[in-house]
Amino acid sequence: MAHTFFPPPEPVAFVPDPRSALPNAADVVVVGAGMTGASAAWHLARAGHRPLVIEANVPASGASGRNAGMALAGLGGHFPRVTALVKTAGGRSILDYTMRSLDMLEAWDAELPGGMEWDRFGSLDLALDEAEAEHIGRMAALQSAEGLEVSIIGRTELAELAPDMAIDEVVAAKWTPRDAKLNPFRLCYGLLEAVRDMGGTVVTGVRVERLLATGGRVAGVSTTAGDVSAGTVLLATNAWTPALAPHLAANLTPIRETVCVTEMLPFSIGAPGFETNQCNEYWRQMRTGEVLIGGFTAHDEGMGIGSYSIDVRPALPPLLARLLTRLHPRLADARFIRCWAGLLDFASLEMPMAGPLPAADGTPLPGAFVAAGLTGHGHPYAPVLGMLMAELIDGGAARTLSLAPFDPRRYVGGSLEPTWLDPFQGPSDPRSP
Ligand SMILES: Cc1cc2nc3c(=O)[nH]c(=O)nc-3n(C[C@H](O)[C@H](O)[C@H](O)COP(=O)(O)OP(=O)(O)OC[C@H]3O[C@@H](n4cnc5c(N)ncnc54)[C@H](O)[C@@H]3O)c2cc1C
Repeated sequence: MAHTFFPPPEPVAFVPDPRSALPNAADVVVVGAGMTGASAAWHLARAGHRPLVIEANVPASGASGRNAGMALAGLGGHFPRVTALVKTAGGRSILDYTMRSLDMLEAWDAELPGGMEWDRFGSLDLALDEAEAEHIGRMAALQSAEGLEVSIIGRTELAELAPDMAIDEVVAAKWTPRDAKLNPFRLCYGLLEAVRDMGGTVVTGVRVERLLATGGRVAGVSTTAGDVSAGTVLLATNAWTPALAPHLAANLTPIRETVCVTEMLPFSIGAPGFETNQCNEYWRQMRTGEVLIGGFTAHDEGMGIGSYSIDVRPALPPLLARLLTRLHPRLADARFIRCWAGLLDFASLEMPMAGPLPAADGTPLPGAFVAAGLTGHGHPYAPVLGMLMAELIDGGAARTLSLAPFDPRRYVGGSLEPTWLDPFQGPSDPRSP
């Protein structure tokens, strides 16, 4: 099947908000009110800035409000390659970043009014055939060696964690007790409310059309509601980043991913989040009883790769329903009440880009920054990357952890062969770099 890995950039579709009041100047502009932009704006506000967040639609209208709410420190199938890239860049472990994100989420849950339905009840990675079983065994060994609390568990323990599961369908199960699940809407809205309380501004229904530059540095943004002058601009624009930075288009791929949700169920399928097939399929039960399930992108048209469309393709909900019923027979009569799709934003080397935005020729463009390409794992990345970006903007360098592994310059100057296709398609050797 042919794939368009890197399609021509498309700006995010948007509905103008006639009530929006856009200031004409700000010290820092954050473009995009998903979890990346919200995290960065929150940290900037905490550092004493008054960030102006400009969002084309409403907060969490992109991937952040369309995701399944799993927070997996082990990054599914991406872990081996991302681990190798962190080490090559001089870092210790990717877990330094992802575990910190999960701890930050837990702290926000306690701090933000109303919390975010944070449940740190662990995750179960289920192998449904021998090849997957071998894969999760190797992955558990690799993750454990990096310092993640993870183990392969037996049937008795699995039955306790997942009541009424069809245990005979499961060949092996990997248990990560410190993973979590949450409501990502509450995350984004809670952070942005706090940004407002700290003196920041969030403007919705306004699309940034281009960066403004004078004298070789950023001077602000041009928007559908007029220009804003600003010495610092952070692009937290996920799949739509190439519309503002076309030179990154060759290494950022939108991938359509589908999620369905059942009606409220009066029984529990288990407290952990669930995943299978290298996290290509994943599901969890919400506190209110609904079960959210996503995946089977490999069965989408062209595997959903390179499309900016977020239409749900009819082939996918039946596959999601079949998987749920296979593993949780009690769900046989549960109906999906809604399905939607969103855009994953895959960076070609599976490693997000976060740092100064290089110009098209790779040279610095002072004042411009980017954090994008979170490659299907927003929760383990967005909190920590937002913090590090705020440190970089505020003080000229990321202090808590190095941003070197995420250096956007590796993605400028030609297209890199995507490394993510193999794990996307199915099991592969998790130790191969
Ligand atoms: C179906 C699906 C399921 C997922 N499941 C999980 C999961 O269970 N766990 C997990 O960790 N991750 C998951 N992810 C990934 C996660 O949702 C993303 O990595 C994360 O939301 C990215 O956040 P973001 O803020 O970078 O991007 P987004 O949330 O997409 O935010 C970008 C924002 O920028 C705005 N924007 C873009 N261009 C402009 C412009 N020019 N002007 C103004 N605004 C603009 C957009 O409107 C959008 O609101 C899933 C993603 C999808 C699509």
